[in-house]
Amino acid sequence: MTKVRNFLFHRVNPERDSLWDPMDVKLFESSIAYIKKKFDIITIEDIPSIKNNKKNYATISFDDGYKDNIDYALPILEKYNIKASFYVVTNCIDYNIPTWTYILDYLFTHTKHQSIHLNFDFLPQAMRDVAFNHVNYRIEYAKKLKPLLKTLNHSQRSEILQEISLVFNDVELPKIMMNWDDLRKLYSLGHKIGSHTTTHNMLGTISDENEIRFELENSRNRIKEKLGFFPATISYPIGNYNDTVIRISQELGYSIGLAVKQKIYNSEKDSIFDIPRIELYNESWLKTYLRINHTLENIKRIIKYK
Ligand SMILES: [Zn+2]
Repeated sequence: MTKVRNFLFHRVNPERDSLWDPMDVKLFESSIAYIKKKFDIITIEDIPSIKNNKKNYATISFDDGYKDNIDYALPILEKYNIKASFYVVTNCIDYNIPTWTYILDYLFTHTKHQSIHLNFDFLPQAMRDVAFNHVNYRIEYAKKLKPLLKTLNHSQRSEILQEISLVFNDVELPKIMMNWDDLRKLYSLGHKIGSHTTTHNMLGTISDENEIRFELENSRNRIKEKLGFFPATISYPIGNYNDTVIRISQELGYSIGLAVKQKIYNSEKDSIFDIPRIELYNESWLKTYLRINHTLENIKRIIKYK
C-alpha cells in the first residue's frame, strides 16, 4: 500500500483579495519548508510507478495557471529544490483571461453597477432582483451566488454567467495568467504540466458528451501543439467529475485524473482517475499545519460523530 498526501495550491501572492484570497508568500514558504522536512516529495505523475513501500510521500500541485505561480511560488520551489505539477486551462493561457470562477468574483468586486436582475426560475426568488448600494452588498451577494452556481447544471450556469458579464460590462479583466513561454520554462526546469480543461467547465455537470470531449481533447491537443507532448494528467475543475468523464479521459489517453478531496491517497482504495488532493488556503499557520498533518479533518470527524 502506498499513501500520498497531494497538496493543492492556486494563487500565491503578497496582495490581498476580499473574495478569493491568494495564499500569502510567507505562508507558502512555511508550508513548503515544512512539507519538505516532513515528507518525501515526488510529483503526481510519479504516483503510478511507485512501488509499495512505507515512505511518507507528498506532492505539490497548482491549478488554473496563474502568473503569480511563476513570480512568487517558483523561486521558493527552486530554493527548496522541489518539482511541482501545474494544471492549466488552455483557453485561459491562450487569451490571458482568468477562469470563470475568478471572473465572477472580480466582476462583483469591481463593477460600478448597483443592481442585477437575474430572472431565472432556477435561482431562489430573493436572488433574482437585487440592488446594491454598497460594494459590500455586492460582495455578500457574490459569496452566496458562487456556491449556488456550482450546484446548477452546465447550461443553467452558463446562462447566468453570460447575463452577469453582459450587465457588468464596465470592468476590464486583469491579465493574471501564465503564457506558453512560462509553461515552457517550468517544463524545462523539470516541473510537470497537465490539463485543467479548455474552459474550466465543471465536467460532471455537462450532459452532452461532445462538450466533455471538447474540454478534455482540445486542451490535450493544445498542450501537445504548444509544448510538444501530450499531458498525462487531467485535473477536473472544481473537483467535479463522474464516470462518463473518467471513461472519456481514459479513451483520450490520459493516465491520471485529479479530484479535490481533503484526504490522503491510498493506492489500495483510490483509483488513479480519482486521486484526492488536499487544498491549502490563506489561513493561519496553525490551520495550515493541521491540514498538512491531516489533523484538521480528524478533528472535524471527531466533533461530528461525538
Ligand atoms: Zn481550477
